[in-house]
Amino acid sequence: MAGIELDRVGKVYADGTRAVTDLSIDVMDGELLVLVGPSGCGKTTALRMVAGLEEITEGEVRIGGRVVNAVPSRDRDVAMVFQSYALYPHLTVYDNIAFGLTLRKTPRAQVERRVREVADVLELGPHLKRKPRHLSGGQRQRVAMGRAIVREPRAFLMDEPLSNLDATLRVQMRAQIARIQRDLGVTTVYVTHDQTEAMTLGDRVAVVRGGVLQQIASPQELYDQPVNMFVAGFIGSPGMNMIAADLAFDADGQASVSFGEHRLAVPESVLRARPGLTRYDGRRLAVGIRPEDMQDAGLVGAVHGGTLESVADLVEAMGADVMVHFPVDAAPVRTEDRVNLERESGRVRAAGSGSVLVGRFSPRTRVFEGQPVTVRVDTEGLHFFDLDTGRSIR
Ligand code: ATP
Repeated sequence: MAGIELDRVGKVYADGTRAVTDLSIDVMDGELLVLVGPSGCGKTTALRMVAGLEEITEGEVRIGGRVVNAVPSRDRDVAMVFQSYALYPHLTVYDNIAFGLTLRKTPRAQVERRVREVADVLELGPHLKRKPRHLSGGQRQRVAMGRAIVREPRAFLMDEPLSNLDATLRVQMRAQIARIQRDLGVTTVYVTHDQTEAMTLGDRVAVVRGGVLQQIASPQELYDQPVNMFVAGFIGSPGMNMIAADLAFDADGQASVSFGEHRLAVPESVLRARPGLTRYDGRRLAVGIRPEDMQDAGLVGAVHGGTLESVADLVEAMGADVMVHFPVDAAPVRTEDRVNLERESGRVRAAGSGSVLVGRFSPRTRVFEGQPVTVRVDTEGLHFFDLDTGRSIR
């Protein structure tokens, strides 16, 4: 087993495209680290540099403390699992799993023992004689995993291994991957563009944008303390609501943010946690509110917080939650990243004079489209960002 270090790694492709810039990540021994970011942000390139499938333009990659920049892929002792599975169609499940061992001339009895062990773990025992085309997507995926596991590599490198599966199977396989990784304790780098997958799987998650690392932290820390607007918008589903507002302190040192007719008091605890806010007295900044920090005021008591009066313009019942969209009179904060993100997720709205916020309400809500709504905002959860740099104000 071994840790993996990326030390100021960069990649420029032959055509001049820069895919990765100054990327430094220490993956600890036995850790499952997820690399996440929107399409084209350089995740796959980074992983392929670790695997030895792509030349490293700048910096160093070390596996188990040894620099591997010049070490061929086959000698790095890492196993890669791809989205496409890359199974041999003419070989049985058994032979697909055994392939790497047979290639290395492992004694037959040992191959047999290992393949059966691995098939057991992956519940592939009954399918060993089948060909891949007679398997379901989930089973194929497990064969691909089996092929990686059987070699007992020092690390697993996984590139969107679940993206060809339907939603239900993805969730099942996700849990299975997490369990296997934990049981085997093999250092793993897992690439995905899906923030839910990243959050549920990762011991730590590295968020990458445009080839540059934005933040690396535990899932909870990414959620609670995003370093910038990009991470705030990317983590969470839907992402954080973001509006421009004016911050003001009164004579007693009480702070509030106002936008249009609305005003929210900023709690003491938030001010204490973010002393940098004092520098923004009388200035405009970006306020972030998570959908889950908003609730139908009629359903909650007077918890710490403020209220926003609006009219529901879209109510989406989702079973466990009801997503309530409502306009507020505030300039939306639409960084380029944010627009791209929304476009990718099909959530683009015409930018009018105001913004539309989304609250994740309880299904007990009695809010209807076109009806007035009083929204209770848990202001303990407010986030603040600098409008120019996008950085979190701490
Ligand atoms: P996705 O999630 O869509 O796979 P990604 O985050 O894995 O995206 P990469 O595949 O690493 O991103 O690509 C990063 C950037 O490098 C992109 O702009 C891509 O177009 C570019 N790129 C990838 N491969 C090459 C190549 N062989 N030559 C030139 N540019 C490339």
